[in-house]
Amino acid sequence: MKAVRLHKFHTTPVVEEVPEPTIAGPLDVIVRIGGAGVCRTDLHIMEGQWDAAMGTPLPYILGHENAGWVEEVGPGVTNLAVGDTVILHPVTSCGLCRACRAGDDMHCDISEFPGLSRDGGMAGYLRTSARSCVKLDPKTQPKDVAALADAGITAYHAVRKAIPLLYPGTTAVVIGAGGLGHIGIQCLSALTATRIVVVDKNPDALKLAGQIGADVTVVADGKHVDAVKDLTGGAGADVVLDFVAEQGAEMDGWNMTRPAGSYFVIGYGGTVHIPTLDIISTERNVIGNIVGTYNDLAELMSLAQAGKVTLHTKTYPLDAAPDALADLDAGRVRGRAILVP
Ligand SMILES: [Zn+2]
Ligand SMILES: [Zn+2]
Repeated sequence: MKAVRLHKFHTTPVVEEVPEPTIAGPLDVIVRIGGAGVCRTDLHIMEGQWDAAMGTPLPYILGHENAGWVEEVGPGVTNLAVGDTVILHPVTSCGLCRACRAGDDMHCDISEFPGLSRDGGMAGYLRTSARSCVKLDPKTQPKDVAALADAGITAYHAVRKAIPLLYPGTTAVVIGAGGLGHIGIQCLSALTATRIVVVDKNPDALKLAGQIGADVTVVADGKHVDAVKDLTGGAGADVVLDFVAEQGAEMDGWNMTRPAGSYFVIGYGGTVHIPTLDIISTERNVIGNIVGTYNDLAELMSLAQAGKVTLHTKTYPLDAAPDALADLDAGRVRGRAILVP
């Protein structure tokens, strides 16, 4: 099969022929990939940012936002049949540890993360686990939903955690209306009555934000922290969802969070420098977010199949993976780039 493999950090991955994955354990599932999302995390992987955490030997296949059709199942799989349309939770979890029993798939003791810790889905086929497959309506086109597997679930997970804070009369700021942010805006709109303020430096991204649920859009032009304060009587927003969290956005996000408010870090790459005096005196919270649970993905797919969350995508053939990565890096992708094998 063809696959997109990273051979060396700080280089572009190569599209090349590799052997197909095979069933190795009783709960393994081989999925024929119908769509694989291209993510900023892939750029961060290429830059070597994940090497220390993962230590995955190169070369390996990128791709952690995958959907497709069940091709083959291991002997212990009872919840899926060959041909089922599925979207994949990005990690394979054990089902037996304390975290798994609490439904917290991301903190499983022995999880694997295809596309980061081993071969991913920018390929003809991917090996995953029966626990990771969310079955979809057979009419669903995997390429239309693939990015919900990581970008979507991550945005949904953060919004889901923020719901108790977002009663009517509150303000939520979304920083970054790109791949994750444009899903976060729709989730906020579908699940809360908060006022949604979207901050982005790109006018096209703000235009899209206005069409999918933003109540107010603010250009990130250096005066955007003040703009958010002006919109909130000088206090700042109750909740800030920072889908960028690098290149200065992280301190802007903290600075536009009101006293006793919560700053959700979802994007990454930057460093937050906050005096501890500020944290205690204002009782502001900094909340980390990593992907989401299986149930988060299942709930998000209910929203998506009801038409309440729509992905704006640009598709590329698998061979054009280097172009898709370059377009993402250069800010030329509105919504999400999807590779279709
Ligand atoms: Zn991703
Ligand atoms: Zn586990």
